[in-house]
Amino acid sequence: MLDMNTNRRDLPPEIARRRTFAIISHPDAGKTTLTEKFLLFGGAIQMAGQVRAKGEARRTRSDFMAMEKDRGISVSASAMSFDFKEFRFNLVDTPGHSDFSEDTYRTLTAVDAAVMVIDGAKGVESQTQKLFEVCRLRDLPILTFCNKMDRESRDVFEIIDEIQENLAIDVTPASWPIGIGRDFIGCYDILRDRLELMDRADRNRVAESIEINGLDDPKLAEHVPANLLEKLREDLEMVRELLPPLDPKLMAEGSLTPIWFGSAINSFGVKELMEGIAKYGPEPQIQRAEPRQILPEEDKVSGFVFKVQANMDPKHRDRVAFVRLASGHFERGMKLTHVRSKKPMAITNPVMFLAADRELAEEAWAGDIIGIPNHGQLRIGDTLTEGEALRVTGIPSFAPELLQGVRAGDPMKAKHLEKALMQFAEEGAAKVFKPAIGSGFIVGVVGQLQFEVLASRIELEYGLPVRFEATQFTSARWVNGARQAVDKFTESNKQHIAHDHDGDIVYLTRLQWDIDRVERDYPEVTLTATKEMM
Ligand code: GDP
Repeated sequence: MLDMNTNRRDLPPEIARRRTFAIISHPDAGKTTLTEKFLLFGGAIQMAGQVRAKGEARRTRSDFMAMEKDRGISVSASAMSFDFKEFRFNLVDTPGHSDFSEDTYRTLTAVDAAVMVIDGAKGVESQTQKLFEVCRLRDLPILTFCNKMDRESRDVFEIIDEIQENLAIDVTPASWPIGIGRDFIGCYDILRDRLELMDRADRNRVAESIEINGLDDPKLAEHVPANLLEKLREDLEMVRELLPPLDPKLMAEGSLTPIWFGSAINSFGVKELMEGIAKYGPEPQIQRAEPRQILPEEDKVSGFVFKVQANMDPKHRDRVAFVRLASGHFERGMKLTHVRSKKPMAITNPVMFLAADRELAEEAWAGDIIGIPNHGQLRIGDTLTEGEALRVTGIPSFAPELLQGVRAGDPMKAKHLEKALMQFAEEGAAKVFKPAIGSGFIVGVVGQLQFEVLASRIELEYGLPVRFEATQFTSARWVNGARQAVDKFTESNKQHIAHDHDGDIVYLTRLQWDIDRVERDYPEVTLTATKEMM
């Protein structure tokens, strides 16, 4: 029997042991280091440092990635699988920069929980807050790791207060730090009554773990200096009075987060966090879909595309669609139905990402992420099933906040430009609109940096220098309504009308006033800032 706290013990064991989660954090809080230690304890790598080393080897393959490195951001996300004890962890990487929030949002539709890493000296930072809000939209369970406890950190109660206040979530300590900064010696494991002592001499060594019989156990004094022990007892007394205990139900609803204290670089506290993920999970969840929801334990396989990445391997101009399996037991070679086109697809070369390497996935279960190489058939939001016409919902496309016109440096290359733009639109890297009047394209993004990334990718991947330039438009809205009403509206507003890469009609404007006017003058037409991808 798996040691876990679940209300759905009827899941097949292979599904029940899966934990699919993402890490959210502000840059520099220690996400990469923590990922490395996860892989180390998951047995996926032999030595810490390999993730970075591999990351760098990959980056040198293209200047685009070098740009990513220069800016210290992670533009592309991937998924990694590894085992921890009897559990299978799937860690889905989120892009770190705020300009990529839409991508992040979609990534978070593919996970069942998030680990929030904060820097003990800094507390809740801006990016943590933003990502947290995204998790909140989905009521994702959150496990918190307060990192860098080996250095001078803020007062622990103050950190907890800040999380509770700024993020409006209750906090329950799963462990408690003993000493601070240079005096930090380890943690008291509240969930298991154990003393975990950090080894400062060997960063890759797992902490020494000592079973304790409650706070009065004389063994404590053998390992903890008297002044620190006194403070620990006082602190834990206050914890008991002021903070709630760990209630798995509240955690699953996303209203309570357990917090572990540790030091990723010293491998300290990481195992306890992993044990927490294993125990409190949660296991693969029910997936929202139309016309019915999907249960992970269903026999038939289903899944959805939450991310498309091009040119992962520059030698093959392939794209990989990342699919989160929502149900069933997938086996390589299976024929699945691509619901949008109603066409069958034989999935012959699915890949799993074990540590930083791609491997053929012979099988996979609900909760797993597989990569399906394809030539552009698979788009974000697509559902794959064994035939049933299900459509996974809740993967929105947001209206861009910045719009710019784009032109090829060489006017003869307009066709190439169109092809490149379509690829990025399908990847979800940008919105591309073709105005009804005139030539050229308008590109929409969420953050300015995306224009730069696009320009460098178009140049690198298509050998096409491009220029972005100002347009008269600042907002885009999707146009919905009965066919006749929409036709009438578009006819009389042609200079504002464009089509997105799916052919859906979009209204471009520069004034909120225009949007209000449309809503007044055309009551049968609705303008929306999001569109469900399908
Ligand atoms: P990311 O930007 O969130 O991926 O952060 P990194 O994992 O790259 O870490 C940022 C910096 O903090 C690096 O220089 C790490 O070596 C350092 N770091 C990570 N964890 C710890 C820790 O537990 N203690 C200390 N002192 N430094 C750490």
